Amino acid sequence: MKKMITTLVLLPLTLIAFQACGPKFKSQEDCGFVQNVYGQRISWKGKFPVPIYIHSSVPEQFIPVIESSFRVWEESAGKQLFYIAGISGGPNEPRRDGVNTIYWMNTWESNRSQEQARTSVYWEGDEIRESDMRINAKDFTFYAQVPVDGKDVHLESLIVHELGHVLGLKHQDGASSVMATYLQSSTVRTTLTNNDLNSIRCEY
Ligand SMILES: [Zn+2]
Repeated sequence: MKKMITTLVLLPLTLIAFQACGPKFKSQEDCGFVQNVYGQRISWKGKFPVPIYIHSSVPEQFIPVIESSFRVWEESAGKQLFYIAGISGGPNEPRRDGVNTIYWMNTWESNRSQEQARTSVYWEGDEIRESDMRINAKDFTFYAQVPVDGKDVHLESLIVHELGHVLGLKHQDGASSVMATYLQSSTVRTTLTNNDLNSIRCEY
């Protein structure tokens, strides 16, 4: 079976003041989280729920899938983590604009055509400021309930993984996790494992 790759793009934004002062933070256990240069976990620091905009490029029938993906994490965290803040228009060009947005892309870099999706996380210090998710609809087809083709990707499983990145989580390939890098086609992976639960409890 062909393996598909999802990639997290990390763009660290370190405040100049931190660099001037030098590291004086105690390194933390990673707990599955991306860490900044001082070894601190990056997260939303309790600023929930996170407003997520849906770009108008996202097919309307998939919005309930996004909402169910929210609930997978929220049921484990025991609180609301995300909400759909609205539908955003404008060009379908992911960018850092202070708004968390999910984009449905019909263009994708040809040398990265194996990526099913990509989530960019921007942070300052140890606090996430913005996260944008792009779904690769150029190279993949997605399904909500039943795959039409064996190559179709279960959208909720993909978004659960990408939301993990939105929360600050990195890939987990050594043990069972929804954050494993590879999501096989026609595979449902929407149940958080003990590893995922431990990560969430560590920070949230
Ligand atoms: Zn990933």
